[in-house]
Amino acid sequence: SKDAMTPAVAFYNSSMGEALHRRKAIRSDLRQAIDDGHLELHYQPKVEMQTGLITGMEALVRWQHPKRGRISPMEFIPVAEQSGLILPLGTWVLQEGCRQAQAWSAAGLGDLRVAINMSPVQVLCQDVVGIVAQTLEDTGLPPNLLEIEITEGVLMQEETKAMQRLRAMRDLGVHLAIDDFGTGYSSLSYLKKMPVSCLKIDQSFVRGLMENEEDARLSRVIIGMAHDFGLEVVAEGIETLEHADFLRHEGCDLGQGYYFAKPLEHQAFERLLASPPPW
Ligand code: C2E
Ligand code: CA
Ligand code: CA
Ligand code: CA
Repeated sequence: SKDAMTPAVAFYNSSMGEALHRRKAIRSDLRQAIDDGHLELHYQPKVEMQTGLITGMEALVRWQHPKRGRISPMEFIPVAEQSGLILPLGTWVLQEGCRQAQAWSAAGLGDLRVAINMSPVQVLCQDVVGIVAQTLEDTGLPPNLLEIEITEGVLMQEETKAMQRLRAMRDLGVHLAIDDFGTGYSSLSYLKKMPVSCLKIDQSFVRGLMENEEDARLSRVIIGMAHDFGLEVVAEGIETLEHADFLRHEGCDLGQGYYFAKPLEHQAFERLLASPPPW
């Protein structure tokens, strides 16, 4: 009946209205944030499971909004993708991450490989190969110290074009990794085609390792399969010693997660590099 519907409709309207308003505000403020330097990168170490050494780090973008406080990339990256702002944002992340990795290398803190997340939009809607080549030239970072993390979604729209560009990036000497591996639905055929050197096991599988036999099996299978294909495997979302022990025992090459360290601002990451690791 009409009466019964009213509250649901009213609820729908106001929450949708608020969500829409917030998205609009985020979209208009993000442009400003990029220009005003309100974005920042945090770095999460990637740790070699056998030795405990830090071999690289994933750069993760952070936005401290002057009025709204910290906004999660889970919220603003999709908005940036839909509005096209992901192009200038992504270029900034790439340049800043490469600049920082080169600075740490030059300071003698180690030849660490920096991993940058790249949206499918960045791959498809601009001269991404030119941008990566120019960034390497501008920052002086050796290509093998850059890794680009992409999801399988990159092949969903214009597969041929995407594949050409991924190959061209690989030919620059840059490493490519498939992020969130196992959550897409064409993982296996993509594995054969994509010019990648690394798989990242999605954190949803790692989280269930100890409680869920299926997640343990899946992780084991992904590690074995990656190695059969000659690929390196990274497990993300390692939160406990038990996770780390399990994955090390299964031969996982690298690990990343709160057990080792949360994403850190650059000074904290430098302190971590300078001191013996606590794990
Ligand atoms: P992602 O690429 O899968 O990044 C991993 C996310 O897991 C990060 O969240 C990281 O902080 C979080 N994480 C790491 N270790 C643990 C752990 O042990 N436990 C748990 N529960 N979480 C852990 P974050 O920084 O909020 O980023 C979320 C997503 O936003 C990223 O997922 C990525 O898809 C996107 N993103 C972040 N920075 C960028 C960027 O610069 N460019 C693009 N295109 N996307 C980005
Ligand atoms: Ca990632
Ligand atoms: Ca991931
Ligand atoms: Ca993810």
